Amino acid sequence: LHRKGESFIPTHCSYCGMQCGMNIRVDDATGNVVGIEPRYEWPVNQGRLCPKGVTAYQQVEHPDRILRPLIKRNGKFIEASWEEAYDLIERKFKEIATKYGKDALGVYGGVSMTNEKCYLVGKYARVALGTKHIDYNGRYCMSSAAGGFNATLGMDRGSTLPWPDLLHSDCFFLAGSNTAECHPTSITWFWRGRDRGAKLIVADPRETPTARIADVHLDLKPGTDSALANGIAHILIKEGYVDNEYVAQRVNGFEDLEKMVERFTPEYTSRLTGVAQEKIIKAAHMYGEAEKSVVMFARGVEQQRKGVDNVGSYTNLALIRGQIGKFASGVATFTGQGNGQGGREHGQKADLLPGYRKLTEPKAVQYISQVWGIDPAEMPGPGVSAYEMLDSIHQGTVRAMHVICSNPAVSSPNAQHVWKALEKLEFLVVNDFFLSETAEFADVVLPTTTWAEDEGTTTNTEGRVIKINQIRKPAGESKPDWQILSEIAARMDRGKHFEYENAEQIFNELRVASKGGKADYYGITYEKIEKQQGVFWPCPDLDHPGTPYVYQDSFPTPDGKANLRVVDWQEAGEIQSKEFPEILTTGRVVFHYLSGNQTRRIDFLMEKCPEPYAEMHPEMASKYNLQDGEEVELETRRAKMKLKVRLTKAIRKDTVFVPYHWGKELSINQLTNPCLDPVSRMPEFKVCAVRLRKS
Ligand code: SF4
Repeated sequence: LHRKGESFIPTHCSYCGMQCGMNIRVDDATGNVVGIEPRYEWPVNQGRLCPKGVTAYQQVEHPDRILRPLIKRNGKFIEASWEEAYDLIERKFKEIATKYGKDALGVYGGVSMTNEKCYLVGKYARVALGTKHIDYNGRYCMSSAAGGFNATLGMDRGSTLPWPDLLHSDCFFLAGSNTAECHPTSITWFWRGRDRGAKLIVADPRETPTARIADVHLDLKPGTDSALANGIAHILIKEGYVDNEYVAQRVNGFEDLEKMVERFTPEYTSRLTGVAQEKIIKAAHMYGEAEKSVVMFARGVEQQRKGVDNVGSYTNLALIRGQIGKFASGVATFTGQGNGQGGREHGQKADLLPGYRKLTEPKAVQYISQVWGIDPAEMPGPGVSAYEMLDSIHQGTVRAMHVICSNPAVSSPNAQHVWKALEKLEFLVVNDFFLSETAEFADVVLPTTTWAEDEGTTTNTEGRVIKINQIRKPAGESKPDWQILSEIAARMDRGKHFEYENAEQIFNELRVASKGGKADYYGITYEKIEKQQGVFWPCPDLDHPGTPYVYQDSFPTPDGKANLRVVDWQEAGEIQSKEFPEILTTGRVVFHYLSGNQTRRIDFLMEKCPEPYAEMHPEMASKYNLQDGEEVELETRRAKMKLKVRLTKAIRKDTVFVPYHWGKELSINQLTNPCLDPVSRMPEFKVCAVRLRKS
């Protein structure tokens, strides 16, 4: 509620891909941020916020904020001036590039920042540092969704429909998504749908708060998603649920799919997935009978070594039912990070340039070189994925790194291996506003602004480009990442390519860089975003209203048709054995965001969930003589750690779940498997073999 002596400034939440609309309360006398109220008029959250959203403002004035640059001397951080920090960065980056070549410099970006910053990180790596080694934390987040959508639909937009449409859908098939905890405000779309008779199917190894309200809960064994999707496709085909006209006109590969799923009978699918046959049949009937249905998934499906195949296999269901490109129907993924969609479109990926252009295409290199004012011959070629880049430090390929808005020391799999890599670096620079676990390894930490201290755009989970507004001036000496990158570029003698005075100038360059690409932002302006409550890309010219519905007439593939992903099921990278007899899976809780660097500093959120735990079924616990609250040692082929047991019947009897929001000795990612999907290079966070011991 609007209080006297306070201003209300509209913006969006800093956390997940819902990017909920909120008003920030600012004390008129001090200019300080003092609270948050939801925005009732914003179409995606309509007045709702989750516990992270309502407390997000507390990070802005938080006493842990880094307010001046820090330089490490004799193992301790000392406050320094920007000039001192830049002097050191310039000297070390130039020294290392001269000695080992420019590719010895690595840039590790993130997608919890604006499109303008994400765009500039790619340009900074390739133009200012001249290195091919650039990748980002979205590799651990959205890369399998991107790979799956590109392969089937010809383009990577995470949602084929605007989410207010969900109110009119007849069936939701949620796979590997604990929506109620990870994207909390979205759950009301499903509650409201159910109130008017829509059906809800949830595929998840745990009976999460989302699965608890489902009509059918498919409690599959971790790592068996494509088997389940193939089993559902088998029933849809056998029992006449295929939209034959749509398939004939708009889809390739149906005969191959029909042949391949022939053996995925309910009995065979049940044997692979551990889900009862009756449930598989019931879910297929429910989905098949719905006139308007949506398949939605998230990291549970994607963070596997066959994540791209999983995404493709679930997308097949929507294609054979003829659901894509229609009102209140389609397929979508939940973006985990605030700008998980936009952050992957503008060139932070090792092999992509802005607008989803490919670095391997000479025309793309030519066009972007011209926008950036460089000779195409100067454009570095494709690098390697996030985990591979960190791993390459051990081989001496990457010697120095600049980490921007990311915390790979917590979020990477096989974390102890990554910590050793970060220790080995000859020079590490980290941009952040709190001292993350990664920043603790750094030689220089540069203080950045929070989301409330700068403006720009993000692209939410629907593909809607929205505006983040500046609420207050930067705290202390902190600066926005775009300004820091531009100033370092000048030190690297590339300043003329980075002459920006504000975020909007960068956005205008991004618009041109994306023009003609698949993620075309050319027709989007700050003004249009405000006027239209966001603009959906593609939006190719200034008169274009944006594209809430994609694929209505054709798919952006050479023949205009979608391609079914015809893939047999394959085992996870690590399977249970006598030595490691149980399955470990990881995920999020409602009170924390990603690596926890922000939410672990908010008292209310820490009171609710102060530490990780090992969630398991009482029958599994009794095998190891474990009681609720006792300590258990979990060990995989990579590491071991101790955690408190939390007993619940809402999980499979062969699976242990641990949330991943903590670092160092509390990091479950010490145990997770870095086995990568061959297409997306996504690590297999969601399944590995583990053994338990009472400690
Ligand atoms: Fe923020 Fe996501 Fe919660 Fe919305 S659902 S308030 S965007 S964390």
